[in-house]
Amino acid sequence: MKLSFSPYTLELRHTFTVAAGSRVTTPVVFTQIEHDGVIGYGEASMPPYLGESQESVLNFLAKVNLSRFSDPLDIDGILSFIDHLAPGNNAAKASLDIALHDLASKMAGMPLYRFLGIGIQAVPDTSYTIGIDTPERVKEKVKEASEFNLLKIKLGSANDKEIVEAIRSMTNKPLCADINQGWQDKAFALDMIHWLKELGFKFIEQPLPKELTDDIAWLTSQSPLPIIADEGIKRFDDLVKFLGAYSGVNVKLMKSTGIYEAKRMLDYANKAGAKTMIGCMTESSCAVSAAAHLSSLTQYADLDGPFLIKNNPFEDIRLENGKIIISDTPGIGVNPRK
Ligand code: MG
Repeated sequence: MKLSFSPYTLELRHTFTVAAGSRVTTPVVFTQIEHDGVIGYGEASMPPYLGESQESVLNFLAKVNLSRFSDPLDIDGILSFIDHLAPGNNAAKASLDIALHDLASKMAGMPLYRFLGIGIQAVPDTSYTIGIDTPERVKEKVKEASEFNLLKIKLGSANDKEIVEAIRSMTNKPLCADINQGWQDKAFALDMIHWLKELGFKFIEQPLPKELTDDIAWLTSQSPLPIIADEGIKRFDDLVKFLGAYSGVNVKLMKSTGIYEAKRMLDYANKAGAKTMIGCMTESSCAVSAAAHLSSLTQYADLDGPFLIKNNPFEDIRLENGKIIISDTPGIGVNPRK
């Protein structure tokens, strides 16, 4: 098996602002694993707050020699080898895991969801993210989101109430809020959640800093809306340790090191009776298509990455009635744009 990779910069349609800061681009690295003339595609996305960069991903990938493996279906063996090369590097590892799953399911002649033994009957609506902005620009974004049935509002700034009121003046759609650790006080958070529930919000993502586990557990026990972990839970071990403090978890391939561990996390959380969500970073339709194959295992999907960028190098993802259409072709179902 042969690995190749190249850096790329995704350009965002709008300046993207969350509680931690703003950006207009997201660095990614695309991977390809080739075997017997079949190519599997993968992607690593590195939003700056997670600590990886194009440089760190390229350095990690340069250490990966897959020539010792001759069977792409030996997914456990290959991923275990990759995971033990160095700690961290979650997005870099995800780019290999995705390419390997694309390749293996192509060789098996199945779409990824079937290869993983998952159905596609229960695909949830995917939400569309509206970043922190002025009320006027927030209103424009609500108009752009007409195809989506659920809007995810980024909060955690000084003008949270102004943003929510601007959105509610435009639409009656169900909403959810992602605070990105932006609220600092549990009593303030609980007041805000009561207010948001009255306005039709369905759940709240990462309201408090991830280190405040006791405060998060208290908030979850008091909150009238489910509290979903994002920054607080990256890999399977974090899930086992911290799920009890939350109502559920937002699983993302770039945090979990890819599909293999994301599926384990969703299976575990579902068995525990927790809420489950599949999310993404700013990603092209390559990594997001891969994630979509897991979406039947979840109650919520937040797979809007490709809709927030203007230079997607892969064919676009299609949406129908607010749901991502999952490809029935072998693999993850994406091809580079011609
Ligand atoms: Mg989030």
